[in-house]
Formats: sequence, C-alpha cells, structure tokens
Amino acid sequence: MHSVNIPFCGSLAVLMSFAALTIESVAMQAEALKFKPLESKIVPALLDNAKCTKFTCSGTQECVFREKTGLDNPKGIVLHYTASTNVPGTIRTYYERGVSAHVTVAPTGEIHSHFQNPEKYIAFHAGLSAWRDLERLNQYFLGIEVVNPGYRESCQELPLFGTPMQITGDNNWWYNFTEDQFISTAQLTARWQQLFAIPGRNVVTHSDICMVADVNFRKVDIGPRYDYKRAFEEFNAGYYPTAHEINLDKFHLTDDQYLELLHIYGYRNKDHSVKSFQMHFSPTNISGELNDRTKQDILNLCIDYYNYHDLYATEKLDPEYRSKLEEFIKRYQYEAAFSEFI
Ligand SMILES: [Zn+2]
Repeated sequence: MHSVNIPFCGSLAVLMSFAALTIESVAMQAEALKFKPLESKIVPALLDNAKCTKFTCSGTQECVFREKTGLDNPKGIVLHYTASTNVPGTIRTYYERGVSAHVTVAPTGEIHSHFQNPEKYIAFHAGLSAWRDLERLNQYFLGIEVVNPGYRESCQELPLFGTPMQITGDNNWWYNFTEDQFISTAQLTARWQQLFAIPGRNVVTHSDICMVADVNFRKVDIGPRYDYKRAFEEFNAGYYPTAHEINLDKFHLTDDQYLELLHIYGYRNKDHSVKSFQMHFSPTNISGELNDRTKQDILNLCIDYYNYHDLYATEKLDPEYRSKLEEFIKRYQYEAAFSEFI
C-alpha cells in the first residue's frame, strides 16, 4: 500500500527541502528523531467523482471535489473529526453526501491521501464558513478529517477510542483521539504550513469557522479533546498562546468588546465564537459563557498573538492583526491596561 513517492510533495519537493533548511527548528529536528516520519504513514487513496451516489433533484450526479481554477497556494487548514469510527465508512459517507477532505487520518495514524497535489483541488469540507476576511473556505483551506466518533449524549465505551469524558459546561461525552492519529495530524499540519507558508492563525477547527446559524446544525468538530497546545509546542503545528499573568481588575472590557477581540483574531460567527474559542483555546469550561477564565484566556490570546513570530508565515509579525488590535486599544482608550504587554 505504501508508495515510495511522497504523494503530495510532487514538484514542490525542491522548494520543500529548501524551506526545511531555512526554517527547520531544533524542535522539528527533535521531532523527526522521536516520531515515525510522516512519509511512512501516507497511503494514497484517490477520490473518484464518478463514484458519487448523491444526485440533485433534477437527476444530475453531484461530485465530491473540484479542480481549482487558480494557482494560489492554500491559505489555511481546517481540522475536523468524521463522527465515525473507521476509514471505509468515512469514504462511503463522502460519496453518499457529496463531501470530502484532502486527507482522512485513520485511528492507526495512517494518512489516507485523497489527492496527489492537494493544493490543486477543492475538497468539500468547510460548508458555510468564514475566517478573518475570507468566506466559503473550501476554495482556500485544506481539510484534514480525523476518524473519531466525536461525542455521544451518554457515556458509551468504544473500541480504539475508549471511555469518553464530560467537560465542564457541556453535557456531551467526548472521545479522545488515538496517540498515533494525533501525532500524524500534528505532523501533517506542520508540514503543510511549512510547504504553503500557512500562518498558525489559519489552522482552525470546523467549529471556529462554521457560519451556520441553526444551533442544531452548527459544527463543533474537531472539538475540545484535540490537544492544540501539545500540537503547537511539540510539533510546531497551528498556534497556541503562552500563558501570561492577566489581572482582570486592570481590564474593564464589556462583553461586546471581548467578542470584538475574538472577531479581530478571526472569529466571524458572533453567536458561537465564545464556545468555539473555549473548545480551541480554553478547554476547561466549554459552556459558551464569558466567565472570568474565558476573559483572561481571550486577552491572553490577543496579547500573545500580537507579539508572536510565526514560524511559517511570510510576515513574521502579523501586520493586519497588529494594526486592528492597536486600533481597538486606541478607540476604547485601553492603552494603560494593555501597556504592560503591548
Ligand atoms: Zn467538520
């Protein structure tokens, strides 16, 4: 099953080795020694639009992916879970529903790669979505589907995924990811960031970007059990802020201003942004309410990201973000409160 060729490096292999020389960090070298190399886990599994079993009302066959018309590199990565327990069932669902991702990560850590050059194809994974100033993200963002049941409404043990757990502020029982698939997902995220100069801010969850208004249909994947902090600290995947001492007594922001800070970072679905933020950056309580811990974590993210030198982005300090945060601080005259950090 394993191919000697790296399925999605292709003509970018030269560029990649050059990039690796220039930005490879000590942490990345350590990672290469500690974990099985990414290439050894990739299994080609090309999708075929002819197999799609979904039809429109008028009888036209739907497709599961499209070729891109432009040559722009991907701008981001969306992390998903499949709400299923195995790869064949997941692929069947792609064809039945006319959806897809660029890769599907099995519980074993095998990465089923659905395109030889993922940057050239639009996979249908993000649905109605927005992040920062981008909308309809399928055309810009790569999709990683991780095979995982997600959550159940009752505690139900499942092979491979074990016993789910509840998280404060939420009634559901959430399953963990296997160690192997977590490592593969984090390694692939970092590799794609490196290949396509994707900034950490643009590694998002489906929940972060979902614009569906109906609460019953809003996406909550990849959920609170994906270890974003570890992915960042151990694999340089995505972005996760370092913790600072935030004294809330110095900040007197209104609830709307906290939502505005989330919007400046990228969140576009105002009604759902607090809960999505909590699942991604503050997973001890995912009630969706703006409690003090969440306020501290929002401020911490905003402050840390302001000073963050991105490993992969072409502009190391994010100028668009910095000017928006500076404008926010000035508009509400919060210079004193933020002066310690900015
Ligand atoms: Zn999803």
